[in-house]
Amino acid sequence: MLNIRDHSTGELFNRWGHLGRNRVKRLQGSWAEVFRAHVLPKLPAEELSKEFDPVMGRPTIDLAVVLGAIILQQMFNLTDSETVEAIAFNITWHYALDVRSDSDLEMTDRTLRSYRKIVIERGLDEAIFRDITDGLIKALGLDTSKQRMDSTAFKSAMRELTRVGTFVETIGKFLRELKRKAPTEYERVDPEVVGKYVERDGDGCFGVRPTESGKRLPEAAEMLRELLGMFRGTSAEGMESFELMKRLFEEQCDVDEDGNLRIKTPDEMSSDHMSNPSDPDSTFNGYKGQGYTAQVMETYTEDEHGEKTAPDIITYVAVNKMTEPDSAALQPALDEVDERGIKPETVVADTSYGADANRVDASRRGVEVVAPTHPPKNYKSGMLSLEHFELDVNGFVVKCPAGHAPKSANAMSGRLDARFEKSTCAACELRNRCPCGIQAKKGKRPRLWYRYTRVERRKRLLYEKTAEFLEKYRWRAGIEATISRLKNWLKLGNLRVRGRPAVTLALRLKALGLNVFRSVPYLTI
Ligand code: SF4
Repeated sequence: MLNIRDHSTGELFNRWGHLGRNRVKRLQGSWAEVFRAHVLPKLPAEELSKEFDPVMGRPTIDLAVVLGAIILQQMFNLTDSETVEAIAFNITWHYALDVRSDSDLEMTDRTLRSYRKIVIERGLDEAIFRDITDGLIKALGLDTSKQRMDSTAFKSAMRELTRVGTFVETIGKFLRELKRKAPTEYERVDPEVVGKYVERDGDGCFGVRPTESGKRLPEAAEMLRELLGMFRGTSAEGMESFELMKRLFEEQCDVDEDGNLRIKTPDEMSSDHMSNPSDPDSTFNGYKGQGYTAQVMETYTEDEHGEKTAPDIITYVAVNKMTEPDSAALQPALDEVDERGIKPETVVADTSYGADANRVDASRRGVEVVAPTHPPKNYKSGMLSLEHFELDVNGFVVKCPAGHAPKSANAMSGRLDARFEKSTCAACELRNRCPCGIQAKKGKRPRLWYRYTRVERRKRLLYEKTAEFLEKYRWRAGIEATISRLKNWLKLGNLRVRGRPAVTLALRLKALGLNVFRSVPYLTI
């Protein structure tokens, strides 16, 4: 039976009067007031209610209270039992959740888990983040014309495994699922194999030293091939863990024409390969390690005198694969904020977001991307580039860095070129750093050639040295503080969940939590 209370209207009597004036005042000036006034009334309780019979069965806990508790769990990074305890005894939570009946305080770990599962399955976490953030932006009267974007790598609650460990865990997972779902098939498995991969008798296949890994890996791979052959075409083939075994075999093994099994070298494996069957969605990046990438976009205000007049509110978050470049994240972010009516006029981001395709797309939407352009080749080693040459309005070289005019400057087939006097370049002091001087030293004709697109890039690179650009770009750094708060304060860097759907829920609700905390000074008395 459904239980949905209307939290947008108050009660006839003051439920909190017994706390006394000072304690009530503290509650009214805290995150609990923002949560109660701006989060609770907007929770999609109606959507969640579709899972339940409106009349039959036991009455549900107030669905808004359940959804609120799922958000608070992420805001305070609590375990299920800590969350259930807070719902039962924490007065600040009761105030935030506008609890009106003792029956709403009697939640169990199991109830919390099953409601969270429904939230993930119905994608309600996305609606919760969007609708409540948009509501906060409206309540704050926030100007969203300036936003900034960045990404960070983070891990799920997943152990890092060696390659042997991945094989052992995947086989073990399959055998455990097989025992549960197809006990008759399970009886066909040699007890010695069960001992090794499930019960891990002795040292099993685990805990091997790196030096022993080379010997154990082929053995585990052979076992994987044997199990795949043994259960192909049986009821086990439809199991999720069988799919994981198949994926592992395809990603890490090869079979030659004679049927011999070969373990692929790390270079032959895709960076998307599964490294732990407990979280097959997580991916690997050579620089950042194993896990996911969080994309974060937030508003900012240019507070000249160090006084903040509005909070920075996270407008967009997404969980991507570690292998997806940041350049691919800007367009989906702009799509979403555009659809929600909170599109920025300026987005400040680092170099990777400023790809040409992103600039073109953003400009079509009326958005300016303020991001540094990739520097020219050999920029760091002090080599001279097109930026050091003087060009006229049509892109032709007028003067070289040493102040010499070219012998000729032409354009053909979409390319421009400038030729210099060989003797001038050979005697020039800059010859070791200039592309023309280097050619002269090699006995070649000193020549500089480039495309029209390079002329455009030069314009941007020169603009990026101006005070105007530096003033706009300096606001990008602020998003690092937001990411640090998400990771360290709201514990995104120490998640208790794994799997992309659960990780996405955690990121969205933690970002929403940060928005709530940041709104407190502006929305409370
Ligand atoms: S090497 Fe030639 S083109 Fe380069 S700076 Fe010297 S004179 Fe100018």
